[in-house]
Amino acid sequence: MQMQAAILTAAHTPFRIETVDIAEPQAGEVRVKMAAAGVCHSDWHVVEGNTQYPMPIICGHEGAGVVESVGGGVSSVKAGDRVTLSFRPDCGKCFYCQNGKPVLCETFTPQLRAGTQADGSSRLSWRGAPVYIFTGVGCFAEYVVVPEQSCVPIREDVPLDVAALVGCAVSTGVGAALYTAKVRAGQSVAVYGAGGVGLNIIQGAALAGAYPIIAIDTNSSKMEIAREFGATHTLYSDASAMAGIQELTGGRGADHVFESVGLTALQETALEATRPGGMLTLVGLSPMGSGTNLPGAIITRTEKTIRGSYYGSVQPRRDFPRFLDWYAEGRLKLDELVTRRHRLDEINEAYASMLTGAVARGVIVF
Ligand SMILES: [Zn+2]
Ligand SMILES: [Zn+2]
Repeated sequence: MQMQAAILTAAHTPFRIETVDIAEPQAGEVRVKMAAAGVCHSDWHVVEGNTQYPMPIICGHEGAGVVESVGGGVSSVKAGDRVTLSFRPDCGKCFYCQNGKPVLCETFTPQLRAGTQADGSSRLSWRGAPVYIFTGVGCFAEYVVVPEQSCVPIREDVPLDVAALVGCAVSTGVGAALYTAKVRAGQSVAVYGAGGVGLNIIQGAALAGAYPIIAIDTNSSKMEIAREFGATHTLYSDASAMAGIQELTGGRGADHVFESVGLTALQETALEATRPGGMLTLVGLSPMGSGTNLPGAIITRTEKTIRGSYYGSVQPRRDFPRFLDWYAEGRLKLDELVTRRHRLDEINEAYASMLTGAVARGVIVF
C-alpha cells in the first residue's frame, strides 16, 4: 500500500512529503490509520541532529488513530478500534514490566533505537530502500505499523486530536507531577518551561493541590495560558526569577522543581531553586552526549533529590484511559492544549510555529 508521509532524509533539512510504501502488519503488529499527530520537540531533536537515528526516517511519536488491520496472533485490538499510541511498547514479562516500570521495558529498546520493527526489519520503503521510524511510532504519516503493545484502546467519545496528546505531552507532564515526583497537597512547585509538557506538569501539580505553583518561561505570552492550567504565579525566566521563587517559598526554594526544557544550564538553575531536602525532577530531553556540572558538595549538604522522569513514569494501558476519563469529567484540560491544527503538508510551518513558542501544542490532523 502507498501513503503520504513526511520523511527526513538528513539532519538540518526540511521534512519532505513523499509517497512511501507501507507493508502489511506481520505477526504481533498492528497497522493504524492515523487521525492526529502532535508536534513535539523530541522529533525536532532528530532534525537538529541532537538525537541520532538512521535515515531516511519518519518522525512523530505522539499519535492517535483507528486500527486498520492486525497481524497474526494479535488479540488486544482489532480493526476499527480507536487507539492512542505508546512510544514505549512494554512486553509485560521483563524485569521492569514485572516491577511496575513498563516505560523502562528492556524488550523493545534496541529496536526503538534502531528505528525498526521488533524483528529488526522495516515495513516502510521509499525509492526501494528501507525507511526508519522514530521511537517505534513514526506517525507523521497516514499509516503506521507498530507492535501490538504500542496500541492502547481508548473510549469512543473523545476527539482523536486530544487523544493523541495523551501519547506524549500529557502523560509526560501530568505523570511527572503525580507519579514520578508524587507532589502532595500544599507543597510548593516551580516549573521551568511552560510548553506542551510544562503546562501538563502544572495541571498535574494543580490536581494534586500544590500551592504555590510557579511557572517560569522566557516567553511572556505563555504566562496567561500557564495560569489557565493552574499556575498561581508566573515569572519571566531571567536572573530575577530565582529571587522571585525564593520570595514565594519563604526564602527556601520550592519543595518540587521541574525542568521541562532539557537545557543543561537550566537544569543547574532548577537545582538551585529546589529547597534543601526538596526534589528536582528532570523531564525535558537533553541533547545526546550533553552533561551538567553535578555539584556533589551542595547536593550532599542540602539532601536534595534529583530524579529523572521518563514518559511521566506512566503505565500506558492504565493511564491513557485514566487521563481521558479525567478529561471527559472536566478534571484535565486537553482541548486548550491544541492551539493550532495543520495538515501533514504544513509540517515545516508547524515546527516553525512550535519554535517561536507561540503555541501550546500544534497537531497534524489527517
Ligand atoms: Zn513527545
Ligand atoms: Zn518489558
